Amino acid sequence: MSLAQIRHWVFDMDGTLTVAVHDFAAIREVLGIPPEDDILTHLAALPAEEAAAKHAWLLEHERDLAIASQPATGAVELVRELHGRGVALGILTRNARELAHVTLEAIGLADCFPVETIIGRDEALPKPSPDGLLKLAQAWQVAPQQMVMVGDYRFDLDCGRAAGARTVLVNLPANPWPQLTDWHARDCAALQRMLG
Ligand SMILES: [Mg+2]
Repeated sequence: MSLAQIRHWVFDMDGTLTVAVHDFAAIREVLGIPPEDDILTHLAALPAEEAAAKHAWLLEHERDLAIASQPATGAVELVRELHGRGVALGILTRNARELAHVTLEAIGLADCFPVETIIGRDEALPKPSPDGLLKLAQAWQVAPQQMVMVGDYRFDLDCGRAAGARTVLVNLPANPWPQLTDWHARDCAALQRMLG
């Protein structure tokens, strides 16, 4: 199957459609999370009250980032072309759905992604779990093998593989995970050219 034949595309958001701006080290420091810990996993294991307070801080911090989002190279043009071809489009992010929508508005793509196909950290288990992709497959009534997951990080590729979907890595000049990757493009502009 060629990329152009795939009619169901799911994008990671931060670092894939936008320029990555999260300073995860600073976030860990403010929230008292050890450098080696995954932020969402760490918060999930805290007592309910502390977890709620830290999630609230994270949401506010991320809202400021979302409003100031900048599109990654070629991302707007790629998504517009896919939308124009009638491709089904979804977002799978470890960010919150509401903030994903704010981000998409900021980069001018909100009209391309129906809210119900934006899967955030409250709609599914976070990547690398395949849960979010499987939920989109169900919503679209397609086999995961008919879908492609586009991302800039290992979690995106792991999630795609675990679901049985195709995978694309963007925005990393070299590919550290070739065994997890079906297509690799240096950015979304290069990926758009691969559509032919
Ligand atoms: Mg990312």
